[in-house]
Amino acid sequence: MYSLTLQPYDYPFRRPLRTHHGLWKRRQGLLIKLSDGQREGWGEIAPLPDFGSESLEAAHEFCQGFQGHLDDGDIFSIGDRYPACQFALESAREALLRYPNPPLQPNFPYCQLLPTGEAALKRLQTTPNDHWGPSPCFKWKIAVEGMQQEQDWFQQLLQDLPPHSRLRLDANGGLSQEEAQAWLGACEGQPVDYLEQPRPPEAWQDLETLHHQGVVPIALDESVANLRDLETWLQRGWSGIIVIKAAIIGSPRRLRQLCQQFQPDVVFSSVFETRIGRQAALHLAQELQRKPRALGFGVLEAIGEERQ
Ligand SMILES: [Mg+2]
Repeated sequence: MYSLTLQPYDYPFRRPLRTHHGLWKRRQGLLIKLSDGQREGWGEIAPLPDFGSESLEAAHEFCQGFQGHLDDGDIFSIGDRYPACQFALESAREALLRYPNPPLQPNFPYCQLLPTGEAALKRLQTTPNDHWGPSPCFKWKIAVEGMQQEQDWFQQLLQDLPPHSRLRLDANGGLSQEEAQAWLGACEGQPVDYLEQPRPPEAWQDLETLHHQGVVPIALDESVANLRDLETWLQRGWSGIIVIKAAIIGSPRRLRQLCQQFQPDVVFSSVFETRIGRQAALHLAQELQRKPRALGFGVLEAIGEERQ
């Protein structure tokens, strides 16, 4: 039996994030502490309802239902309507079992999120190359402005990248199939790691088609926001990349089972959680990310390092 303490948080991003989903200005979530009287473990509920997770309110209400006490059986029987709670409570339990918890050093470097639109150019032009370290990886959001404008910026961006950089483009499902084809054309021969979620989840055949063209790998993100969707794609034989937003995908235990069964090419990524959730996600990345791909946690400049 564990005691459960809830601690809501709410903070503004230092720099609001603009994506195809809109403008995101603050992160709200819930830190949870499990204690068995001797050890303690922290977990984090950082929902993302745009990606199909439960809302913060629903998660809070669900956790209050335990009235401060729960056991392993409760933790492993949380319903799939509460993926952020599954992640938080299971990872708090794992942290408790590892207690005390020395901070984990990530096994791969972070991919740095650039500001959206033209601001990315300014960021690169005003930052000394050595700030980014050797062989840096950057992510840039697309499908926010008009395509022609974005492709012009993209050409400039390629010239402004530090030597030996890699770039990931993330459309958040916001391109038409014709636009996605045009982006693949623009990426051909360029140092582009992958094009992430060019089409929305319901256009799954388009995503397959784009991937099989083999120009640039396609990564799924919104398409695999929960374990059921992940399993569907793995059973379908998806051979592209899969972005895992650990904090909202659901039960770490079941995620491990799926990864062991199918051995997918995964990249772990942030949902702008705090250090607590990030540590839990990094533990999973260390176990489950097989290829040496930059981790999608280079977001500290956007959310403010003082929060971390
Ligand atoms: Mg994404």
